[in-house]
Amino acid sequence: MKRVVFLIWIFSLAQVCFAQAKAPATPAEVAIHAGRVLDVRTGKYATDQIIWIEGDRIKAIGSASEMASKIPVGAKTIDLSKNTVLPGLIDCHTHLTMTPYSNGLSGVRLSYPRQALTGARNARVTLEAGFTTVRNVGAAGYADIALRDAINAGDVPGPRMVVSGPPLSITGGHGDTNFLAPQFNWSDDGVADGVEGVQKKVRENIKYGADVIKFMATGGVLSEGDNPALAQYSEEEMKAIVDTAHSLGRKVAAHAHGAGGIKLAVIAGVDSIEHGSYINDEDIALMKERGTYLVPTVYLEDWLIENVNALGLTPNMIEKAKTVLPIAQQNLSHAFKSGVKVALGTDAAVYPHGLNGHEFGKMVDMGLPPLEAIQAGTVNAADLLGWSDRVGTLEPGKFADIVAVDGDPVANVHLLENVSFVMKGGAVVKDASATH
Ligand SMILES: [Zn+2]
Repeated sequence: MKRVVFLIWIFSLAQVCFAQAKAPATPAEVAIHAGRVLDVRTGKYATDQIIWIEGDRIKAIGSASEMASKIPVGAKTIDLSKNTVLPGLIDCHTHLTMTPYSNGLSGVRLSYPRQALTGARNARVTLEAGFTTVRNVGAAGYADIALRDAINAGDVPGPRMVVSGPPLSITGGHGDTNFLAPQFNWSDDGVADGVEGVQKKVRENIKYGADVIKFMATGGVLSEGDNPALAQYSEEEMKAIVDTAHSLGRKVAAHAHGAGGIKLAVIAGVDSIEHGSYINDEDIALMKERGTYLVPTVYLEDWLIENVNALGLTPNMIEKAKTVLPIAQQNLSHAFKSGVKVALGTDAAVYPHGLNGHEFGKMVDMGLPPLEAIQAGTVNAADLLGWSDRVGTLEPGKFADIVAVDGDPVANVHLLENVSFVMKGGAVVKDASATH
């Protein structure tokens, strides 16, 4: 008897499931009434617009008077008529699974699962700051890949993520942990040496889910004992990294401070130079010739220099920060005037996540025209990610990733430090707009 009841229960459950499968829900329709929409390509504003969203994509954009008759009855309306609307922002250099306290000795106490959970918190904060897409270039234990997958599955809120997994580094280089005594036999999970070694590591990262390959072409600042001015990896190794990644359809980001390392990485064919602290005219000319992006990460200096003694960093790291960062400001400011392609990247984790929008104002202070700074964090960033077909501009067919500010962001890029409205894929993430 019990079995019969059970079978009936199973049967009715199957009917419910079948019925649900037969009638998929129609995608939600949303109409955003925008006071102004910024065309990030031209810097021009279109006033009194309606953005028609179906599901997670933009269906159409046009003047409110033209669009009003097209919007289906029952579509949800969002009133941003007092605001300026622009595409969701993009940060090409984050470390969501890390914090300002991850680099010194305190970092060795953090398990990979703990790092992934730190990432869940930082992903939410970053999204709420208006960054609907990030390229995460460096995380231990594939925690970034777990985070990307959790966000895509809807388990935790966060931006769209393009992730690298562990960054490739020479033994003892910027991507290795160098202050442990030899008996610990420690080597970070991205460490690989020699042509064959780096080829295998690139393939391994891709096997475990990397969308992009990151490698350390020079020493770094927040690492022990290595020199940011000097190249790490030989020309042959860099070429092997880039060729292996490109042949498997992945772009390559090179961390590079020293001018010589920048040059080697650009010649090897990388898609972006991260930081670029000692960039010189020869590097700039090569990058312009080859279309290599510069991802300058400039705002971090302001926060880091102010807090450098409170983060548990080693004396060597502190000394390097004080030496390299002021020089970087001069060189990058020069690069901004040269016309090299720039994509916005923050290195968030060096300073607290969520302050990413400060990068715009800092780049403008250093000589990048405001519209170019906005392009760096939208249309250019999308191009660097290879995602121009889905993010970076507000156009039909692209994801409904949208932010709004109160005022004119081209006249004052600091407005992007505090966006009042964030939508990702048609879903409202944040709405602090006073108008509704
Ligand atoms: Zn970084």
